[in-house]
Amino acid sequence: TCTIHDLFETQCRDKGSKILFERPGLSSMTFSEAWDRVLRFASLLEESGVRPGDRVAVQVDKSAEAVLLYLACLRVGAVFLPLNTAYTGAEIDYFLGDAEPRLFVCTPATLQTHAARASETLAVESLGAAGDGTLMDRAAGADQHDSAVPCKADDPAAILYTSGTTGRSKGAVLTQGNLASNAKALNDIWHFTQDDKLIHALPIFHTHGLFVACNMALTSGATMLFLTRFDAEEIIDEMADATVLMGVPTFYTRLLKSPRLDPLTTASMRLFVSGSAPLPEEVHARFAECTGHTILERYGMTETCMIASNPYEGERRVGAVGFPLPQVQVRITDREGGNTLPRGQTGAIEVAGPNVFQGYWRMPEKTAAEFRDDGYFITGDLGRIDADGYLHIVGRDKDLVITGGYNVYPKEIETLIDALPEVAESAVIGVPHPDFGEGVTAVVVPQPGASLDKERLLAALSGTLARYKQPKQMIVVNELPRNVMGKVQKNDLRKRFADLYA
Ligand code: ATP
Ligand code: MG
Repeated sequence: TCTIHDLFETQCRDKGSKILFERPGLSSMTFSEAWDRVLRFASLLEESGVRPGDRVAVQVDKSAEAVLLYLACLRVGAVFLPLNTAYTGAEIDYFLGDAEPRLFVCTPATLQTHAARASETLAVESLGAAGDGTLMDRAAGADQHDSAVPCKADDPAAILYTSGTTGRSKGAVLTQGNLASNAKALNDIWHFTQDDKLIHALPIFHTHGLFVACNMALTSGATMLFLTRFDAEEIIDEMADATVLMGVPTFYTRLLKSPRLDPLTTASMRLFVSGSAPLPEEVHARFAECTGHTILERYGMTETCMIASNPYEGERRVGAVGFPLPQVQVRITDREGGNTLPRGQTGAIEVAGPNVFQGYWRMPEKTAAEFRDDGYFITGDLGRIDADGYLHIVGRDKDLVITGGYNVYPKEIETLIDALPEVAESAVIGVPHPDFGEGVTAVVVPQPGASLDKERLLAALSGTLARYKQPKQMIVVNELPRNVMGKVQKNDLRKRFADLYA
């Protein structure tokens, strides 16, 4: 089996002194330096009692060393389990209790608190953003590990928790084969090579930053500009000698606020990728106007790595996420019966292929419920495939509003509301309604300085929307609640406005 680790090892053999990580404020790290660290980490993991299949939970600030620790886990057959740095106290208790790791790596600042967790079965170490911490101190004295633990394609490589947009995060068990096949497919379709320099400003506890961005660069021999936070002006500066940016839609919204974003500042860039949440059509259009670059939107999820992508060559269709990746199959089924629907009809998006995870960690029933008998995974997203084969995401199954027995897809209404000049953005949700089951409700953010006349806006919609789709109420807010990946937290909105029609 060829793993991410093996592909990276090959790159290290022939890249030697090429830069792998460029880190503002810290010294750059070459492929050979990185490889040396991976080998020392691997020895250290084994010395700490980590055996194949054991989990290594990591809650640290973003650093090159954290990525190398991930590679060391792959080398010794351990299961890498990164945790969102925002989790605290009870959340950490839950994740550690659920995952039962052999080793927990935390930040130097929290080591004192977490040291109390150490036991015969759990070692605790620290790793800091500047390559400091007990793990690094010990690695300095460790030997280079001699040979990678052999593994099979379906051996677990990582457990990644989902973003928790629709409820409690679930641990998705991803295999060596899932990760390697997806990185290869993406390198291929996005023409990623050693000549690329990727601007990496995403968190690395999520599939987008780790299994899309890092895995692609590690296995193709590209250089990563490793940024610990998103700063639009800094990113525009760095574009001068970079080639690719991978971002969430909010990256693009923020870049567009800078007057410096133009064809000249983006001249050396060849690719802008967006994913993790829907890219608003307006952002897509304005980015093209400002820079001459068409953002390439793709679709994926923690459980499946990447599923579909707009083409590198050929039309990048606004509002669509493109075609299934090589070897990946996508079908649309009817929500209730599970039968495959004809082209053009909206239903549940299901996916099969080497990218699809093994199951949710220690949740056999949940896992069984999300797979069809023929192996397709039910993504929980709704969509349709258009006449040209492009996949369109219509929203999440859980966000579908059912009012008076009719299905209402929020996106259709949000698109109309967002097109009104005084509106910046909107979220349409269903909240309990005594007569209709759920009442269609629009939560709207005005453009800066604009004042919203709710009655007029509702009237504007009445001409274009069937009556049952028209919002029964419109609520004006200053901003929509979002998580770190820029996803709108509709759950929060539903809770907040649960009593609206009571
Ligand atoms: P949870 O499963 O815990 O509720 P989550 O689904 O947000 O959280 P992730 O695995 O990070 O967790 O996100 C995957 C989801 O993100 C997809 O199922 C889809 O709803 C959404 N998504 C990803 N890319 C796109 C895109 N290009 N357009 C629209 N939605 C997208
Ligand atoms: Mg999900």
